[in-house]
Amino acid sequence: MDVLVVNCGSSSLKLDLLDAESGARRVSARAERLGTPEARLRIGEEVVSMGGADHARALETALPKLMTSTAGVRAVGHRVVHGGEDFTRPVRVDDAVVEAIDTLSSLAPLHNPANLAGIRAARALLPDAVHVAVFDTAFHGTLPSRARAYALPWALSQKHGLRRYGFHGPSHQWVARRAADFLDEDLRDLRVITCHLGNGASVTAIEYGRSVETSMGMTPLEGLVMGTRSGDVDPGVLLELMRREGLDAAGLDTLLNRSSGLAGLSGRGNDLRDIESGAAEGDERCRLALQVFTHRLRKYIGAYAAVMGGVDVIVFTAGIGENSALIRHRVAQRLDFLGARLDEEANREARVSKDAPVAAVSLPHSRTRILIAATDEAHAIARATARLAESRDAVETDLQIPIAISARHIHLTTEAVEALFGVGHQLTPHKPLSQPGQFACEEKLDIVGPKRTLSGVRVLGPVRPKCQVEVSRTDEFALGIDAPVRNSGDVANSPGVTLVGPAGKLTLTEGLICARRHIHMTPADATRFGVADRDVVEVAVDSEGRDLIFGDVLVRVKSTYALEMHVDTDEANAAEIRRGQAGALAGTGRVARLRRRRTDYDRG
Ligand code: ADP
Repeated sequence: MDVLVVNCGSSSLKLDLLDAESGARRVSARAERLGTPEARLRIGEEVVSMGGADHARALETALPKLMTSTAGVRAVGHRVVHGGEDFTRPVRVDDAVVEAIDTLSSLAPLHNPANLAGIRAARALLPDAVHVAVFDTAFHGTLPSRARAYALPWALSQKHGLRRYGFHGPSHQWVARRAADFLDEDLRDLRVITCHLGNGASVTAIEYGRSVETSMGMTPLEGLVMGTRSGDVDPGVLLELMRREGLDAAGLDTLLNRSSGLAGLSGRGNDLRDIESGAAEGDERCRLALQVFTHRLRKYIGAYAAVMGGVDVIVFTAGIGENSALIRHRVAQRLDFLGARLDEEANREARVSKDAPVAAVSLPHSRTRILIAATDEAHAIARATARLAESRDAVETDLQIPIAISARHIHLTTEAVEALFGVGHQLTPHKPLSQPGQFACEEKLDIVGPKRTLSGVRVLGPVRPKCQVEVSRTDEFALGIDAPVRNSGDVANSPGVTLVGPAGKLTLTEGLICARRHIHMTPADATRFGVADRDVVEVAVDSEGRDLIFGDVLVRVKSTYALEMHVDTDEANAAEIRRGQAGALAGTGRVARLRRRRTDYDRG
């Protein structure tokens, strides 16, 4: 499907008509310096001066010229910088969406109004096409609250929506996906750090397909050193500058967004090529600019490896990441301790292109792979747009899914059963659970955390190859242990905990998790719903007459499963779902319905 991608910057407009599958460009147009007397539009070889033109006029002029090359466009994808709290995935644009994006302009005053101008003009010019908004922030909708929050007064943050959002989402997601494809692995099995290094720069920690940390914050100013943006600065410096230089908000804005970064440090402008040349010629400021740039990125990579408990792949992308062997060399030279070992020769020689978008630059035995990947934001936006335009996110919404509440419980290995209950002990079934073959046991254990003990926690049978202790967020705080949200069975790198039974005590080195909400279903169910194993879906629970939506629900398909959604006690409380009967896994009599499936776009 051909998609027109509209990307409006504050004074620029990029239009690309491309094939959503292959990414092949049919035709492109670029407008620059919009709103100034020097405004001009370029389509192929043709350059049109259009002094004073705004986004709408540039679009009006460009579109008919673009359209002559095709029979017409059925889908238009719009890049929108800020999606705020509301937009955590691409959406079809209607009047309500336009209004919501408008409201978000206060969060991105430089960007959202320009994006909206493009949406309004394109909808007027192409009223019959499906218009889709793709948000820079959406991919980071999965950031946990600990990574979102600023340590500012809570009420103030609530009032103004002060929190970290993250940007460059389509690019981070795109290159992570390309990297996984290149390695012939599933992104959902990898911990990836993506470094998008263009004029704007950000780094993201992608844990098993989900963004869990990213360096840009509420605005695209936090984090790495950029072309003209400072990235991280002690906020105290700003207070001092206000006092000493008499700077106001506008003055600080210009300083931090336009006069800082590589340009401010080097005094040679924002083009890294010039700074690399300057450094080679002995210019100390250029050298410092390179050092600060690479030092900060290395610092973030180390931090993000710590956040994810390790890293499998580091990806470099965008103008600098794809082209500067020097920057990659400087960043990667001290990462051996993470198992990331750069192949210097491969790094010097590596080139990526649309035809060969990924190249490996780590040594063959490097535990952590280092890759370069060509980003293509327009292609990412086109794919997301085509998926929505073709309704590929649709699911069966009428079928009902029973809901069960999973209380804290423990799975044990045979060895653990013997250590806790005595040699030769066999688990005693108390009553069967809804999943065939599974049963709640008579046996109970105490879970001992550094802070408190949870007593009498039910063991579930049968025994498993690994011990796993599933608790809720509330339990986690009670125990005093930080447990990750994981799929059941995925306990690698999770924290340990001590279990106490009648015959002994057992300290696990790993196994404590908060189970991710999930739906069990058979392959036949999956076909009926239009989903596949490990898909992530959105589920609506009819709660007291209003739909309560659970996002991020994992689908688990096996022929022996019975159709059922499992939520933990915290989630059930939030949804005001009460437990039917006592037990480790209690049916509630309530039902849910699928609302949508994540598209491939969401999955990364
Ligand atoms: P944008 O964020 O504007 O899309 P790009 O991704 O095009 O930016 O990246 C622009 C940056 O990439 C510039 O700093 C430029 O100097 C740098 N760059 C491009 N090619 C090279 C190269 N061969 N060597 C070093 N830096 C390069």
